[in-house]
Amino acid sequence: MDFKRGLSLVAVFVLLHSSTDELQRVTPAPEATPAAAMADARPPTPGELLARRRLVVPVKGTPPARLQDSFEARRGTGRKHEAIDIMAPWGTPVLAADDGRIEKISSNRAGGLAIYQVDPSGRFVYYYAHLAGYAEGLKEGQAVQRGDVIAYVGATGNANRKAPHLHFAVLLLTTQKRWWGGEAINPYPALSQAPAVTTATR
Ligand SMILES: [Zn+2]
Repeated sequence: MDFKRGLSLVAVFVLLHSSTDELQRVTPAPEATPAAAMADARPPTPGELLARRRLVVPVKGTPPARLQDSFEARRGTGRKHEAIDIMAPWGTPVLAADDGRIEKISSNRAGGLAIYQVDPSGRFVYYYAHLAGYAEGLKEGQAVQRGDVIAYVGATGNANRKAPHLHFAVLLLTTQKRWWGGEAINPYPALSQAPAVTTATR
C-alpha cells in the first residue's frame, strides 16, 4: 500500500514538475513576440532615422571621439544652438556627411559662406556654415557622395575669427520640403558613431 501510494505521489510530483518546466519554457516566447511587434510598429524617431543615414564626420581627419555635443548650448536670449561646432584649422576640407544633392549655396550674415545639402530621401537637409570657401566648381543641383570635399573650414559670418570651425546642422523637412524649413535634429548621436574619414574620396 505504502509503496503504491509513494509511487503515485512521485508520479504526481513528476507531472507537476514537468508541467512547470513546460510553462517556464513556453512563457517567454508569447511575451517576447508582442513586445517585438510593438517595437516594429512604433514609427522611428527623427534621431533613429538620422542614424540610418550612416553619416560621416563632415570635417576631414576629425575622429568621432573628438566631437562635442553643443546642440543644447544657449546662443543669446532663449535661443539654442541647434547644431554642432567642429573645431578645425582654417582650410581643413569639409566633407559631405551623406550622399545627396547640393541644394543651395548661400552667403548670410550669421552663417557666412554656407551650403545646404539634401539627402537622397529628400527628408533631411544638412547645413554647413562659416566656410572659408567652396570646393572648386561646386554648384547648386550637383550630386555628392558622402566623403566628397565640398568646402573648407573657416570663420565667416558671426564666427570668432580666432576659432575657425564648421557649424553643422541637420533639419528634418516638413511635408512642404523647403530647404530653409524643418525641425533641427541633434546630429551628435549619429556622428559620434560615425567612421572618421581621413582620406577624402575626391
Ligand atoms: Zn555653431
